[in-house]
Amino acid sequence: MADIIKLLPDHVANQIAAGEVVQRPASVVKELLENAIDAGATTIKLIVKNAGKTLIHIIDDGKGMSNTDARMSFERHATSKIATAEDLFKLNTKGFRGEALASIAAVAHVELKTKPDGNDVGTLIEIEGSTIINQEVCATPKGTSIAVKNLFFNIPARRNFLKSNNVESRHIIDEFQRVALAHPGIAMSMYHNEGELFHLPSGNLKQRIVNIFGGKTNEKLVPVQEETEIVTVDGFVIKPEFSKKTRGEQFFFVNDRFIKNAYLNHAVSAAFDGLLPDRARASYFLYLKVDPKTIDINIHPTKTEIKFDDEHSLYAILRSTVKHSLGQFNIAPVLDFDRDSNLDTPYDYKNKNALTPKVEVDRTFNPFANVAPPKKGAQLPKHEKQNTTGWEKMYEGLQSKPSADGGDFSSVSFESDASNTDIFVGAETSMRTENGMNNAFAKAESTTYQLHNKYIVTTIKSGMVIVDQHRAHQRVLYEELLRNITVKESVSQQLLFPLVLEYSTSELGLILQLKEGLENTGFAFGKMEDETLEVTGIPTSIGEGQVPIVLEQLLSDLENEVPDVGFSQTDTLAKSMAKSMAVKAGESLDDLSREHLVNRLFACKEPSVSPSNRTTFITLTGDELEKKFK
Ligand code: ADP
Ligand code: MG
Repeated sequence: MADIIKLLPDHVANQIAAGEVVQRPASVVKELLENAIDAGATTIKLIVKNAGKTLIHIIDDGKGMSNTDARMSFERHATSKIATAEDLFKLNTKGFRGEALASIAAVAHVELKTKPDGNDVGTLIEIEGSTIINQEVCATPKGTSIAVKNLFFNIPARRNFLKSNNVESRHIIDEFQRVALAHPGIAMSMYHNEGELFHLPSGNLKQRIVNIFGGKTNEKLVPVQEETEIVTVDGFVIKPEFSKKTRGEQFFFVNDRFIKNAYLNHAVSAAFDGLLPDRARASYFLYLKVDPKTIDINIHPTKTEIKFDDEHSLYAILRSTVKHSLGQFNIAPVLDFDRDSNLDTPYDYKNKNALTPKVEVDRTFNPFANVAPPKKGAQLPKHEKQNTTGWEKMYEGLQSKPSADGGDFSSVSFESDASNTDIFVGAETSMRTENGMNNAFAKAESTTYQLHNKYIVTTIKSGMVIVDQHRAHQRVLYEELLRNITVKESVSQQLLFPLVLEYSTSELGLILQLKEGLENTGFAFGKMEDETLEVTGIPTSIGEGQVPIVLEQLLSDLENEVPDVGFSQTDTLAKSMAKSMAVKAGESLDDLSREHLVNRLFACKEPSVSPSNRTTFITLTGDELEKKFK
């Protein structure tokens, strides 16, 4: 038989990659804005025509590109930002994949003008569908100007998939605001069809928020600040009385990158518990700084999702930090007056050294352990009056008796000390019962240990297995959910009082599309209208408090999904639910849960990878161990 495998021509490969990177005009805006930031721009101008379908033009005053670099920048995997695989673990740029420009140029008409500092002339390059049609020297100011015209001109199906101008420009504005909020020091402006939508001078975070959301926002902001070993939290939350019923401004930034995270959103909402008016949602602008080594941003091509090493502790820290800020702010009107004059610069507040917040983190805290109180958007059953005025609630978890180590937050260790010692004690005991090394491996002991609240360690006949608890659980749930959704035989747990959640009309539309699938997993719905969703039954495997997280995650996964070849809503649904339901890294598991999880994992069809294709476990055989001890 003749050989049949060929390498794809570049322009085809680029178009395929574009499917991932460029979903809609807003994705182009995001990539180009990020490139301008990475280039060190101090002023960025965005011009959009016809919701980006006709033109997206970004002009920056960054470092520009040389003639050769300008040409190179359109090659796939061409990047100046990383050179080695190690660099991936210390990223401080937005981009690193080197695919954005190549992808954009594959599906649009692109005109690039760029000039580095010190050069007399710049470079002009015109590309249409990956083909260079013109390259010449040109006069242009220092920096880079990229105009992207006629997006998807060569993929009519994708162009037809675009939504109305209203929807697409909303997406563009969202991206613009996210970048603007992450970089208040950079002057940014945006024009749509000739009109100026935003004019944001360089300033501090508070000024940036006020410039974007209007002058009145100033009085609504409550500063949030906390420093711990694993994360620094900064930013503002909106005072509860100004919260909105629709999903208002909810912004998380991790190391200056906007992210979506339903679980952390839940943490903030939980801090507002009892303070929000009926069915309102918390609004916040929160900036987390973590060691780049402890996150994985490689997980989604459009990078709004980040995987944290210890999401569970982050949850606890965020919840108590926000709770503390709200409490401190509301109960101390004197302090409030004091601070008012300084409100314009959050940095003053920092320098004041006022009352270092002491936060006690309960690292075994499980937000779903008890029947969780109705969370964000959830309504209390009518006749079950909430028996608190709000004040007592704010103190919950804050009346921290000085803990053994003096309550000093920085000295709190997030690993379970108990499980650390366990590993030795346990190992010893099981050793004692065995006769020598070989025997120990011959017998498949069902003892399991937890390492760093993240991995489950157990023995098998040939040696030992180390299981990533979060990924393993995702795999287990994913297969279970897929079965349920297709076979339709899961059990539902009827709620005594329906949960009433608020969603925008378009979000409700998305949920409606997946209604049947959701019902097959155990959900039952009542009314679905007027921006409210009544949940009357839930899968037996989740608690009531988890429902908003699951649905929120699902909505954001659906938004990120490219409706394209191979797109299956069932699969997205199963993946998304598995992700939000799975135990997190950082959660401590008891003996039984550990054992159960391991057993269920190995009963899976594809136990070795998570639904997103990540390794779920590794093994270490007796032979390998013996070699190590040579
Ligand atoms: P990435 O950002 O992942 O490196 P891109 O395809 O977005 O990949 O860009 C490729 C390269 O082109 C970048 O690494 C950078 O060197 C250069 N580049 C892109 N945009 C700009 C810009 N606005 N100013 C200066 N250089 C740029
Ligand atoms: Mg880039």
